[in-house]
Amino acid sequence: MAMPLAADLIGALPGPALLIGKSQRIEAANAAAEGLFGAGLLGRHYAVAIRQPSILEAIEAVQGGAASANARYLARRDGRDTTWKAQVKPIGDTFLVTLEDLSATEEVDQMRRDFVANVSHELKTPLTAMIGFIETLQGPARDDAAARARFLATMQREAQRMHRLVEDLLSLSRVEATERMRPRDTADVALTLASVLTMLAGKAEEAGVTVQFARPDKPVLINADPDQLRQVFSNLVENAMKYGAQRVELHLAESEHIPELRRPGVVVDVIDDGPGIDSMHLPRLTERFYRVDTHRSREVGGTGLGLAIVKHVVSRHRGRLRVASSEGEGSVFTVCLPREP
Ligand code: ADP
Repeated sequence: MAMPLAADLIGALPGPALLIGKSQRIEAANAAAEGLFGAGLLGRHYAVAIRQPSILEAIEAVQGGAASANARYLARRDGRDTTWKAQVKPIGDTFLVTLEDLSATEEVDQMRRDFVANVSHELKTPLTAMIGFIETLQGPARDDAAARARFLATMQREAQRMHRLVEDLLSLSRVEATERMRPRDTADVALTLASVLTMLAGKAEEAGVTVQFARPDKPVLINADPDQLRQVFSNLVENAMKYGAQRVELHLAESEHIPELRRPGVVVDVIDDGPGIDSMHLPRLTERFYRVDTHRSREVGGTGLGLAIVKHVVSRHRGRLRVASSEGEGSVFTVCLPREP
């Protein structure tokens, strides 16, 4: 059997790869390498073709006798920044340069860093307030009964805020942990909606909100996790009440063919007549800690995680979440769930 040519081997590699010969010229390069460094690499001096100081240094190190050398390389591709790890290795009297795209890993890392920074910030605000009040109670307000009662009430509010945040973080991580597992339980969506409304009846009355739901007279069964479903609808109904609706309406419909899912399932609309949401915010609404108005969200006890939890639960159930809203016109949050995910 004939030995494969270096060019064939390089061409078969999935990532960008090129081979530099003794003459310092590029002897083989695959299409991915041309995509990264530009077309027409063959036969050119490597320093002219690559022009990336970090990679050139790595090549020189290996030419100088190193067993291998790595370099990081930032490139702009298709309008976005990408990060690559280049590895240079000697093979006989040639040098093999391969590159690995690290962008996806870097993106996940960046998201994790942002998330930790956000959580820390969200916890720090109430914590700082509480520390301030504790110091005042230990010092200047030690013998002031009226101030004590007032400060304790505020401290309780701040502690509850931290408690809600921690609860939502735990819910989010529980949902994420089950995201790849198919729900095995059966849930009655009609019963779930009714129990969410019973649970929120006190809050609705306090806020002067009327809630309507024409509950079907027989169970509407789907394959779903009942606790997670309850959480989805309580987050949506609570949001409608928190953000200024006077009237909230729930619609539940069964369908033998939901177009988005191409399967039978249920469609639940949570409709409110509140202030609505400007369309520019809609694409980012389900991101963690994204709020249209942070101050208002905090004031009404929001954590910024409610819709992120909704999105994850719906996606675990292979369903869809749709939001239709415009400023001043109220909002409709629609959840489609397949009968069987
Ligand atoms: P929060 O805890 O802040 O309510 P969510 O993730 O539940 O966080 O919602 C994100 C943001 O979406 C809210 O801060 C609010 O600005 C907006 N929002 C959600 N539901 C509604 C609604 N029914 N009407 C108006 N704005 C809403």
